[in-house]
Amino acid sequence: DNLVNRICAGEVVERPASALKEILENSVDAGATSITIELAEGGSKLIKVSDNGSGIIKDDLPLALERHATSKIDNEDDLYAIRTLGFRGEGLASIASVSWFSLASKVAGESIGYQLSSHFGEVREITPVGINSGTVVEVKDIYHNIPARKKFMKSETTEYQHCRTVFERIAVSYPQIAMKISHNAKEIYNLTDGDLLTRISSLFGNQYKERYFAITEFASEELTLSGYVYHPAYLENNKNVQLFFVNGRYVRDKVIQNAIKQGFSGVLHHEHNPNYVLFLTINPADIDVNVHPSKSEVRFKDSGAIHSFISRSLKKSLAVPLG
Ligand code: ADP
Ligand code: MG
Repeated sequence: DNLVNRICAGEVVERPASALKEILENSVDAGATSITIELAEGGSKLIKVSDNGSGIIKDDLPLALERHATSKIDNEDDLYAIRTLGFRGEGLASIASVSWFSLASKVAGESIGYQLSSHFGEVREITPVGINSGTVVEVKDIYHNIPARKKFMKSETTEYQHCRTVFERIAVSYPQIAMKISHNAKEIYNLTDGDLLTRISSLFGNQYKERYFAITEFASEELTLSGYVYHPAYLENNKNVQLFFVNGRYVRDKVIQNAIKQGFSGVLHHEHNPNYVLFLTINPADIDVNVHPSKSEVRFKDSGAIHSFISRSLKKSLAVPLG
């Protein structure tokens, strides 16, 4: 059973950055307005995430580590209306099975919090702990019990870059959450909560605060596209920002990429890639997010309609002068 868990864990938690993604998504789902991340050695030595979200009551702490135990779905209908980032209940279980793991939490109104610690999947103990309301997750020495996977980890710099990419995607998607991240005790970003444009420019540079085309088209209550696109010719320091989110989830998808290209056709030389930060919101019933957890894929029920909606919206917005 433990072996099976460890093998399954590999699918969800491919590398330290995948663990960071699962943990951050939980903080977002918990309604945190402030998240602090500490990494050491590209995340392989330490991933520590503190949030001020809802917290977990003592009795539920062991459940959080149980495979397929989620507080986010009650019945089958919920599966077709997913509004949280997580819903499989395997993120923490997978991470805990391959690391020294600690989950400390206090719900608002309680005087004391509780900390659950586990060692490569074996729960050690639950002890009282004095912490602020919210949750602190610590992952140490990830994959030390799986030499084969440890061997596949790349250099510290590479693993760190992956963690940074995960951070940037979530940071862009949730500008209303204050987010801080450090690596090897060196501060990387300290982002105050604010609007999307400020968040984008804090991450990618001031030029992204100007020279944008703003996108807004409301097709219906169930389908909206918003965000900013940038013509590369107007960017002095092109960071190649290509971020597309569907209901808050980062998505990399051929249909979407093609639609964006088509939206830019006639405006952009074919060798150039547009920069964009775009958010599509869609009725959860019209997509299937139930593809593999580590993949940034999405299945639209009607991809033709989505394609034409996106390219039409971009064409219209590009006809309006620069912001
Ligand atoms: P999922 O997110 O799919 O439900 P996880 O394994 O990621 O599964 O988390 C298991 C459960 O632990 C969640 O359903 C949630 O109830 C709880 N949990 C995890 N992280 C947090 C957090 N930061 N704040 C509050 N609850 C959390
Ligand atoms: Mg989760």
